Amino acid sequence: MPLQFQAAALEKSLTNSLGLYIHIPFCENKCNYCSFYSFKPSGLQKEKYVQALCTEIKKWGVRNARPINSIYIGGGTPSLLEEKQLESLFSSISENFEITDDCEITCEVNPNSANDFLEYASRLGVNRVSLGIQSANDNELKTLSRLHTFYDAKATISRAKSLGILNISVDIMLGLPDSSLKSLENSVKSILRLNPNHVSAYILKVEEGTPFGKLGDSLNLPSDDEVCKQYLFLCDLLEKNGYNHYEISNFALDGFESRHNNKYWLCEEYIGIGPSAHSFYEGNRFYYSNSLADFLEGKEPVFDSVGGDEEEFIMLRLRLARGLVFKEFKDTFGKDLSEDFFKTAKLLQKNGLVNLSDNKISLTNKGMLVSNSIISKLIYSVV
Ligand code: SF4
Repeated sequence: MPLQFQAAALEKSLTNSLGLYIHIPFCENKCNYCSFYSFKPSGLQKEKYVQALCTEIKKWGVRNARPINSIYIGGGTPSLLEEKQLESLFSSISENFEITDDCEITCEVNPNSANDFLEYASRLGVNRVSLGIQSANDNELKTLSRLHTFYDAKATISRAKSLGILNISVDIMLGLPDSSLKSLENSVKSILRLNPNHVSAYILKVEEGTPFGKLGDSLNLPSDDEVCKQYLFLCDLLEKNGYNHYEISNFALDGFESRHNNKYWLCEEYIGIGPSAHSFYEGNRFYYSNSLADFLEGKEPVFDSVGGDEEEFIMLRLRLARGLVFKEFKDTFGKDLSEDFFKTAKLLQKNGLVNLSDNKISLTNKGMLVSNSIISKLIYSVV
């Protein structure tokens, strides 16, 4: 593959298993808050796209000799793929990569398009499903212009379990229009009754160019203060129900952290294939452009940066509850963190924003709410 990237290969990483991300940029309908690259495809577009994915998977297979221990089919809406298309994708992956026996194979699924899909996905080896529930309140689902009800989400989880897919992750959204602590409590408690193994919780961000963005002030959003309360309430409720808050937006029962997502935060390497998919491979970060036409033409990914530097290491480790372990920083970069770093950390500790001990620093739940500003302050005191 003619990628003329800077030679920044990390020797250690070359021996590790990789993650593989496949992007499916198709959606039946555009949700009111969504700014991702996705669109409603024609039958022909789906066919051509799967062919292009298989071609690209083959190219990567020739270039890469490392085993894959995590496959993540994300989107968009992967559950819009038909049986033959998913089969082609999985055949191509298994023909071109060495897959570890314990590989975590996740598919994102929307409750409105999951029924038949789950049957063939489970047969093809999918062992984890990530379900975009977003809310258990049907009025909120309508506001978001989701195409499913909470009943559909419940039925999808039952169907997945009956097919032997027992590792279930769900997405929940906070800070929704007209929401309150009470509506959130109802939503989360209803979702917890479905016993998911993993929960991702995202605060609604109103992006320009989306239908919500166009509504501006007429959207009855909770205040920043109310959104903070919703987040802290959610953290508390999930922790009380046995979910470990292992990353700013992610919670898991013991043993069910997302292997795929952990690769991002632990600076491990992965290959992402599809328009807008990002990769971190042989020390370099790069991405495919946001264009189906470019991808169908076989355009190469675009170099972004050399990855895994001090700044990135600090930023990503601080997203995790395990935090930034000082010895790991020293082992990786051959030096200690600066005195300025610790001065800043102590100030943040006084304000209840970080936990600081002799061997590591991590964000408190309150700190996670303002993670960007804390992480910038800490990085600024290092570089
Ligand atoms: S299903 Fe997901 S990717 Fe598709 S429009 Fe909705 S939020 Fe965006």
